[in-house]
Amino acid sequence: MEYPGNLFVVAAPSGAGKSSLVKSLLELDSHLIVSVSHTTRKPRGQEQDGREYHFVDDAVFRRMVDDGAFFEWAEVHGHLYGTSKAGVQSMVASGQDVVLEIDWQGALQIKKLFPNAVLIFILPPSYDELAQRLNRRGEDRPEVIAQRLENAHHEVAQARHFDFVIINALFEIAVFDLKTVVHSQRLKYAAQLRSKPAVFKALDLS
Ligand code: 5GP
Repeated sequence: MEYPGNLFVVAAPSGAGKSSLVKSLLELDSHLIVSVSHTTRKPRGQEQDGREYHFVDDAVFRRMVDDGAFFEWAEVHGHLYGTSKAGVQSMVASGQDVVLEIDWQGALQIKKLFPNAVLIFILPPSYDELAQRLNRRGEDRPEVIAQRLENAHHEVAQARHFDFVIINALFEIAVFDLKTVVHSQRLKYAAQLRSKPAVFKALDLS
């Protein structure tokens, strides 16, 4: 599928710092917007419906699956998550650069649909550091943390299928790395041609 906007997909194991990195990236780059996914999990803390996620129940989610409303969807840590077609399609078609903050299964599904999508995997510097971050976050019960750490090994192994890998050892450096990937993607010949066809036409380029 060809479209003028760029699609960036960011995945990571839980606790690698993905959400904080994407948040900082969005603050630095006003041309990027993040797609809001649907999920069957309950809101946590300050989360608001329509801001972090569209929170729906199982029946609504399943109906959306049957209606073909998702580009991709997956079960992650026991809940369902999906990227709805409606939002993303109109954004990239209008030339908007979009970030999907989703799990690795969803990322690989997106790459099949949008071969131009840029897949970025965030790695922690070590499993010890990942464990410390999950514990420090204090969001989850010990058994949930243990489950997430166990899942992390399989998730980390998926990094090989991604276009870029960022090791989040020092936050500021990882933000810089993420910004560099986004910027480099925009400067690729094909991306420039897709986003600025009038300039290329004026220069007799195609
Ligand atoms: P959390 O519940 O901690 O917000 O997210 C759990 C995991 O689900 C994270 O890895 C997150 O990126 C992923 N996720 C969030 N939205 C989507 C989505 O639309 N599709 C898929 N495949 N994963 C998602």
